[in-house]
Amino acid sequence: MKFRTQFDVEVIIRNHMLPAFVSDLNYEIVAVSRGVSPKIFDRTRESLIGVKLPDFISFNEMLKIITWVEQAASENSRCSMSIPCLTVNVESLNLSVDPVADACGNIVGLLFQHSSCGTSASEGLLENVCNNPAKNFENLKSPNTLENEFRLKTALQSAHQGVWDHDFELNTHYLSETWRKMRGISINEEVAYSTEEWLKTIHPNDIEQVFVQLELQRSGQTDVINYKFRQRHANGRWMWILSRGRVVRRDADGFPVRIIGTDTDISDLKAVELERTKLAERLRVAIDAAEMGQWDLVVSTEDAFWDDRSLQIFGVKDGHNERSEASWASFIHPDDRKATVAYNNLCLRERKDIACDYRIITPDGFEKYIRTRGKLVTDPEIGDRYIGVNIDLTVDYRKTIALEDALDRRAYESRHDVLTGLANRRKLDEYIIAQTADPKPFQLAAMHFDINKFKQINNKFGKGAGDFTLKHAAFTLREFLPKKALVARIGGNEFIAVFLLNGVQKRLTDIAGEIIRKFSLPFLYGDVQVKSGISIGISDSNICGHVGNLLRTADLALQHAKKDVRAFYQVYSPYMKDEADKRIRMQDELIDALEHDEIICYYQPQFEAQTMKISGIEALVRWKSQKHGLIMPDQFIHVAEEMGLMSKVDEVVLSRVLVDLDSWSAEGISVPPISVNISAQRLMDPGFGARLREMHIPKGKIVFELLESIFLDVENDAITENLRLFEEIGIDIEIDDFGTGHASILSLLRISPKRLKVDRELVQPIVRSHTRRHLLENIIRIGKMLEIEVVAEGVESLAHVKVLQDLKCDYLQGFALAIPMAASDMRRLLA
Ligand code: C2E
Ligand code: CA
Ligand code: CA
Repeated sequence: MKFRTQFDVEVIIRNHMLPAFVSDLNYEIVAVSRGVSPKIFDRTRESLIGVKLPDFISFNEMLKIITWVEQAASENSRCSMSIPCLTVNVESLNLSVDPVADACGNIVGLLFQHSSCGTSASEGLLENVCNNPAKNFENLKSPNTLENEFRLKTALQSAHQGVWDHDFELNTHYLSETWRKMRGISINEEVAYSTEEWLKTIHPNDIEQVFVQLELQRSGQTDVINYKFRQRHANGRWMWILSRGRVVRRDADGFPVRIIGTDTDISDLKAVELERTKLAERLRVAIDAAEMGQWDLVVSTEDAFWDDRSLQIFGVKDGHNERSEASWASFIHPDDRKATVAYNNLCLRERKDIACDYRIITPDGFEKYIRTRGKLVTDPEIGDRYIGVNIDLTVDYRKTIALEDALDRRAYESRHDVLTGLANRRKLDEYIIAQTADPKPFQLAAMHFDINKFKQINNKFGKGAGDFTLKHAAFTLREFLPKKALVARIGGNEFIAVFLLNGVQKRLTDIAGEIIRKFSLPFLYGDVQVKSGISIGISDSNICGHVGNLLRTADLALQHAKKDVRAFYQVYSPYMKDEADKRIRMQDELIDALEHDEIICYYQPQFEAQTMKISGIEALVRWKSQKHGLIMPDQFIHVAEEMGLMSKVDEVVLSRVLVDLDSWSAEGISVPPISVNISAQRLMDPGFGARLREMHIPKGKIVFELLESIFLDVENDAITENLRLFEEIGIDIEIDDFGTGHASILSLLRISPKRLKVDRELVQPIVRSHTRRHLLENIIRIGKMLEIEVVAEGVESLAHVKVLQDLKCDYLQGFALAIPMAASDMRRLLA
């Protein structure tokens, strides 16, 4: 009030258009300018009158003002200063402060102006407010100032800050109530004021840095120090203190003599900080354990920080953790760069979290697989930024790729033939099933191939040659079949090709012809010349009616093609199916026949060529069917062979022969040796020997006829064993169909047969053909040389009998002499 009566400042300042106010020396506002809008202090101009500055100016800034005032007083000078305002809710407000003097130049107050006011405007106001320049600073040391400090301290107490004020010159020491309270020291308790004594209460680990700070201040390097330390609380525990001290006055030597400051109990904060440190540490360990690299990106500047592990992952050796978004992009694999950068930009633009996998090329040229994850965090200080991790997935990726490759390979191998690389049965079946399921299936063609003589090639030249033949076949098929054909190897020496009829220019038979021609040419395996051939069955969905029948009908056609000894093709025709059906029916019936004694024996006598006496009998099988009458062997033997029943048939025949032999002998009829045909199946049957022993065969009464062709396989152990047994039991051996089977004479000698039965194909032409007669003559001569008797089959005329007698053939068999007959007829004839 005194202030206002002395100067009518209020009137002057009220009309000033820029933000300004005047306080008295108690730092209480006494006048406010028009320019102080309510926006600035969040209250009206009127309500600012009487408000104390510590209400909205920070303690540190207040100390600055107090320091300045003290200094101004001691140096008797004037100065202005800028003070950031604390509690302004709009923006930080910079205030300049000037002393206000009365008419005599005595300082009576302080003028605060917004520092944004131009200097000329602010000086103008200063001049108007102060009639005279301040020259007497005595007032500043007035008790008013101290009183103001007291108020200030009171204000700070309410902010839970302990205030301390040590004047070592005047030896006055002030410790606020809060200061004492936070340490558990009562108001009356003595406190040691010397720095040495005070240091004794500090945690030993913190003394050093506290000392460093004090030294900085003491030496004059700084007036203000901020430091944290642990101090003993009255109850014995350590408490954390944040202390801020400012030198307010120094002596002539520059030593601080008055220091004012505040202490804040930050024990709670410290506890939180400690917890946070631990958490960060744990996180660090986790990130380390996961071998993740950490990164950080400020969205606005695109400045990035990569930790050392990130650098290591990217193969960066320059050690610069500060990086940019652009430098990251430069590492990305060229094939992945465009997409990855675009994705990243999108995330940044839309402030979305980042999650991407991509490849990089490290500076050393290694390709790596990287997974990057980033979370957007909004930082009040620097705005939006991403915090994320980089993970090196190279090893995992490689494993995954290897696994996928393996799975692919397995999937491939499960559907392909390893040897030829063609499809296999499974893939073929899947293809056909897919086609069958199609409501409007395409017109398809199928070809079924069978490599001829494959077994012989394997036996003669070894497995390598067999494999080579198959590869050669695969190659030939690919060469002539339509490009899009699905070609599969479905078993040992069989292949199937399926393809769309549509778009195939050539006739199927022409394609088959080309393949047969090419494959019948000999080819070289190493330096061995291999000769093979191929049989082909052809069908298509037009002929077979439905895709589902395609493979079966092609197979039927192949079976017919294979009947031809030359490589050959056959196109499917419905009669083949009828035949096949018949054969299936016959299979069932044959099983019944064996069970119901329908398999019987006919006998055909053999004659001594010179005397024409019966010298032997051949037993020939017949099927006396209830349903079809008498069935000849050529009509059912192949079926029995297919079904593996031939051995059984032979056994039935032999049993019947033994029964007849027994009963005829019992009647006193003299019976010559009876020849029984033995199939290859029976001869190789390991149980054959045991069965023979059980049968008690009379010595020299039974002869076995073995086909010449069997002895191509003479190395077979079971055959050798059985042959030895026949000799032991007293069963002679005849080579049947001699001259058709290509067995070498040597291999035949090894089994020491009793007789050769010359095949009727060789016998029949001898009447007309001189050369054929000559051939037979030679066979007979060789027989004589080796002491093997010769039987001629197919003796159909007396002319044959005559020639054979002339050629000194030993025995004759044929329709001209006797046809095969039922057992009862044979008995009568013998009797
Ligand atoms: P094969 O062993 O060569 O038997 C002789 C075949 O020639 C018999 O035919 C016989 O009837 C026929 N034949 C006899 N004389 C003449 C002739 O002057 N002219 C002509 N054109 N043919 C004559 P069949 O009984 O039809 O037997 C055919 C084949 O079936 C036999 O040929 C033999 O390979 C086989 N076979 C017959 N019975 C058995 C058997 O019990 N077991 C085995 N494994 N095969 C048998
Ligand atoms: Ca025979
Ligand atoms: Ca024969």
